[in-house]
Amino acid sequence: MEKSDIGIIGLAVMGENLARNMERHGFRVSVYNRTAPGEEHVVERFIEHYGTWRRFTPTRSIAELAESVARPRKIMMMVKAGSAVDELIGQLLPHLNRGDVIIDGGNSSFIDTDRRVKELADKGIYFVGTGISGGEEGALNGPSIMPGGAPQAWPLVKDILQSIAAKLPDGTPCCAWIGPGGAGHFVKTVHNGIEYGDMQLISEAYSLLKRQERLSSEAIHRTFNDWNRGELNSFLIEITARIVNFKEKDGGYLLDRILDVAGQKGTGKWSAIAAMDENDPLTLITEAVYARMLSALKSQREQASSLFPPSPVGIHKTGNEAIRDALYAAKLVSYAQGFSLLRQASLRYGWQLDYGTIAQIWREGCIIRSAFLSKITEAYRQNPELENLLFDDFFRNKITESATAWRSVVANGMLSGIPLPCMSAALSYFDGLRTGDSAANLIQAQRDYFGAHTFERTDAPRGQFFHNDWTGKG
Ligand code: NAP
Repeated sequence: MEKSDIGIIGLAVMGENLARNMERHGFRVSVYNRTAPGEEHVVERFIEHYGTWRRFTPTRSIAELAESVARPRKIMMMVKAGSAVDELIGQLLPHLNRGDVIIDGGNSSFIDTDRRVKELADKGIYFVGTGISGGEEGALNGPSIMPGGAPQAWPLVKDILQSIAAKLPDGTPCCAWIGPGGAGHFVKTVHNGIEYGDMQLISEAYSLLKRQERLSSEAIHRTFNDWNRGELNSFLIEITARIVNFKEKDGGYLLDRILDVAGQKGTGKWSAIAAMDENDPLTLITEAVYARMLSALKSQREQASSLFPPSPVGIHKTGNEAIRDALYAAKLVSYAQGFSLLRQASLRYGWQLDYGTIAQIWREGCIIRSAFLSKITEAYRQNPELENLLFDDFFRNKITESATAWRSVVANGMLSGIPLPCMSAALSYFDGLRTGDSAANLIQAQRDYFGAHTFERTDAPRGQFFHNDWTGKG
């Protein structure tokens, strides 16, 4: 049998569609997916769908896969990032020869990729870590591809990767060699960080159109469509216009039934961590990551929405007193966030931290010693399980009293061009927390639209995940 040009491991949405894309471009493709006992064989299903009469070779083991690919072999992994990639490399190695290429097309951490490039170079195997963007539709019809790693691999994989990549109007492929080590995955990480930022900004714009301008779904659809014809023209605005207008069989808007809990797979977080490591102020993208984390605290948000009613509209406070109140309210958020982090870590590591005592020993001697630390001690003595410091009566009353001044001070500062990164971030956190029904449903819908990442529904029990066929193409 004629050997394949490339082998693909992992036949979930991305691997399956990349395999089809490669085959359509004339390459012979071997496919493999691990099989859990008792499960329908994914490779059988793939071949049932797409047929062996094409240039596909189904394989049932890693050994068979390696055997079916022409040397120097090119084997691409499209599997869950993390330990699965190392496990697969371990399984592949006995079946490879020096000069073969392993390509990891998943969303791996660039630090892992850097390590893998070095480890495999010692064994004479060229490792490529490549970012692939465009979701399932892009994988099938032309993604943007960001390969990096062992430079010797580029001439070997260039033809396949550039053939299947998206093309600019002049035919230039959206695939270029990025650099050595983890460079390809680093660029993909930052790409995804920008994607997080774009999606959060769009959901904020949607929130303003819906909650402030009080536009109907139909009017929001028209607005995004209009924007998409102008300088905001982009894939994410285009799909947002479609998402807000998508109706279920009974005529109801699907977006209104998607739970406002946004998921994430880690690349946004890695962008934020990389920015910290580089001392680079990646504030917007990091906020977008936090916004998804806050959306996931659904029960806290619901609790906060009943504890903190909206501030009265139209009242403005200025002057020293107002600035003092804003400082005080924002400071409360700082401590609430700090203690929330202590709580999460305590639960994770089983430390059983005593928050009341921690606040007590911070009352004197240390740099953050202050009058209200005694109130924190009291709050945790009363309720050691307090989920959020702001839910304690003392802190709830204080922040409610200060909210109007805080809002005015932040708004005035912004109108004057005075940077208030923390006062405003604290206010956004507070408002995010007290929004029981947020616009994160749009982010989750976008994720499902381009990446089949699924969503929960407001009319189904938590923990049940759904995927919608947004385009009607199946
Ligand atoms: P996924 O849900 O991230 O991964 C599922 C695939 O990984 C399945 O084929 C699964 O096999 C396999 N797998 C998991 N653990 C494994 C292990 N220990 N050994 C062998 N195989 C294992 O699928 P995906 O959405 O298609 O994404 C694939 C990769 O591309 C991921 O790294 C993802 O982050 C990245 N990516 C995804 C998108 C997107 O829009 N979805 C876009 C760009 C990049 P089983 O079927 O046996 O479970």
